Amino acid sequence: LLELRELNKHFGGLHVTNGVNLTLNPGEIHCLIGPNGAGKSTLFRLILGEHHPGSGDILFAGENITTLKSFARIHRGLSVKFQVPGVFKGLSVRQNLEIALQSRHRGVELEAEIGRLLDFLGLESEQAQTAGNLSHGQKQWLEIGMAISLKPRLLLLDEPTAGMSPEETHMTGEMVQRLNADGMTVLAIEHDMAFVRQVAQRVTVLHLGQVFAQGSIDEIVADERVAAIYLGQAHA
Ligand code: ATP
Ligand code: MG
Repeated sequence: LLELRELNKHFGGLHVTNGVNLTLNPGEIHCLIGPNGAGKSTLFRLILGEHHPGSGDILFAGENITTLKSFARIHRGLSVKFQVPGVFKGLSVRQNLEIALQSRHRGVELEAEIGRLLDFLGLESEQAQTAGNLSHGQKQWLEIGMAISLKPRLLLLDEPTAGMSPEETHMTGEMVQRLNADGMTVLAIEHDMAFVRQVAQRVTVLHLGQVFAQGSIDEIVADERVAAIYLGQAHA
């Protein structure tokens, strides 16, 4: 569904994305892991079109989208939940979902879609609450709700469980699995290995802007080369 070919991106003298090749199969849940500063979030911005690569190609559903603007990529079925929360803190949960949905739905249909999302996210009782007052986990779920509101074919999640309890993390994993069962392909950046183990069918390790390793979670945790790059990092 998504194919990155020899992607390169520099920030000044920093080679942040260094010849990345990555293929996502339709219907898979793929986790992207790697130490802080490995270039994971940058890769998401390249895929969405917020950054443009110095060289290389991005193919989505067989089409070369490398030079397309973000909105055109979203229109084709790409969606991202970024690492930094983007909810409107002063608005209610319901209003946030309304904004996410309004480009495609109106009236009765809009109401039905909001209801469907609130139910999926488990946020019905919080719908009137100001988004800024939600718990950290609930804010993340609202973010996910906004990212899935237009039913993307490919959902990119940048650290969806950051700040969550183990229980909330597990519930997030179940949400991702339900989306996947409905046909959504998911690429998630994660530091929480319990989440990766719960959902990932395949794992890619990014290190210094390069694909360092790829395989099942068991292959990755057994790989001593991978363990070595995490030494001295907060996330072990
Ligand atoms: P983390 O796990 O901490 O979120 P990451 O793997 O997502 O890390 P990126 O955010 O992609 O890492 O950053 C990779 C490198 O690129 C870092 O050294 C970062 O400082 C640098 N970088 C990211 N964005 C920019 C930018 N807009 N301008 C200059 N340097 C940047
Ligand atoms: Mg990041």
